[in-house]
Amino acid sequence: MTVIAVTGASGTMGLEAVAHLVKNEGVRVRVLLRDTKRGKKALRLFRRRYGDLVEAVAGDLRNYEDCLRLCEGADYLIHLAAVIPPRADHEAEETYGTNLGGTENLVRAVIETGNRAKFIHISTVAVYGDRNAKHPWGRVGDPLVTSAFDVYGQSKTAAEFAVLESGLACWAVLRQTGVLYEKVLANNLGDGLMFHTPWNVPVEWVTARDSGRLLANLVRSDLRGVADGFWRRVYNIGGGAAARQTGFETFDDGFRLMGGSAKDFFDPQLNCTRNFHCFWFSDSDGLEERFRFRTQGVREFWEEFAAKRRFYRLGGLIPAGLLRKLVTDPLKRSTNAPAYWLEHGDEARVRAYFGGREAWEKLPRRWEETELLCESEDYERLRGEPSPPLDHGYDENKPDLTLDDMRGAAAFRGGECLSEGSAPVGLYAPLRWRCHEGHEFEATPYAVLKAGHWCPECCLTPYVWRMDLVAAHSPFHAQVWRDSHAEDERFVYTLRDGRAVAEEAK
Ligand SMILES: [Zn+2]
Repeated sequence: MTVIAVTGASGTMGLEAVAHLVKNEGVRVRVLLRDTKRGKKALRLFRRRYGDLVEAVAGDLRNYEDCLRLCEGADYLIHLAAVIPPRADHEAEETYGTNLGGTENLVRAVIETGNRAKFIHISTVAVYGDRNAKHPWGRVGDPLVTSAFDVYGQSKTAAEFAVLESGLACWAVLRQTGVLYEKVLANNLGDGLMFHTPWNVPVEWVTARDSGRLLANLVRSDLRGVADGFWRRVYNIGGGAAARQTGFETFDDGFRLMGGSAKDFFDPQLNCTRNFHCFWFSDSDGLEERFRFRTQGVREFWEEFAAKRRFYRLGGLIPAGLLRKLVTDPLKRSTNAPAYWLEHGDEARVRAYFGGREAWEKLPRRWEETELLCESEDYERLRGEPSPPLDHGYDENKPDLTLDDMRGAAAFRGGECLSEGSAPVGLYAPLRWRCHEGHEFEATPYAVLKAGHWCPECCLTPYVWRMDLVAAHSPFHAQVWRDSHAEDERFVYTLRDGRAVAEEAK
């Protein structure tokens, strides 16, 4: 009997993953569930639908003993649990405790129980930070420039680094993109988060159902011994060509179910212009080729969604102006909404998300004057094929990398590789590095060259974001950071007791 331990099983992707995993023969799924309303509800559902195929461990991944009980005798651990936005934007410590602390507990528990469970870590596209039309396409290995004040993205980047550097015998990191699921509208119509999405951000979606199928197919392939070369790598999960859009198109699709265009519901100048995440993946077909999990594009998802929820159609009977007063206008008063920051003088957030109040004041107030990427002449061409890949600072075709290659890659990141010698180095043995500020750290060549990680002190100090300063010295980071940040921006963004601060560095 193969035991597959799963965290986050009561979440959107977790429920789908369990549903698909139990279809594999000779498999038992072991879920870690908290003693909460949601946890109990999931347990009842699993019992009813899958009987003995699912066993539950009651506990919390912030508690190491609970993680030990989950991992004991497990063959796989699928780590899906995370505090995500919008909750992550309001509960910073809880987010770090679960996302980073929980992951560290699980890593330790797997190693402690014999280091035999294969660790599948679900990371996120948020680790990459902001993208726009200047580099709409990206891939694993691109710089991780998590957005300022994004505690979710930062804690997940730290969690991923912990997995890569852990000494786990067998792991894979899957960076999950934006997920379309049953309650996607309901869950996002309660917070100012929806205004964080820039109109022109390239987004590649995936559905929760396809993501669940991916995990089940991955395990099945591995059990059959056909997942060669899969482990100890990082991947992007995405829905492919049929799931590539812009932020505007996404809102437009969702709000058309209620009988209007996004233009009827939103003010063009009240969605952020930067400091978000998402892009089109030039490498997400890799997982599809291996595990054949895609069944739904964005359009198919919304069609199915609308067919099940005919009441949304009733929206068409209500004038758009009234719907707007009922649906989107109240959200502007959310503390997580740009309209709130602008009104209450939260200049730090206005700086991070718009480039400052002056930049915001220059934004057009009318849709007719707002440039939408999805309406531009260039759009189909841009979306049709990947733009030239970003430079990762070393020869990607070279089979055996040497310390000279490490030195070159470090210099491209504004720092140095301090390890000595000239023989080829493996990708998974830690080396010693120094960043432009003189911080010394250990990291594997895989994490730095292949996965886009860099100095933990500069990039992963909790609640501090100093990418303006990193990009000033690192051409590697600058190649995307400067797409949305001016050459002379030198801000350090900090969350202090929940208050956003932006200080100009001298
Ligand atoms: Zn540093």
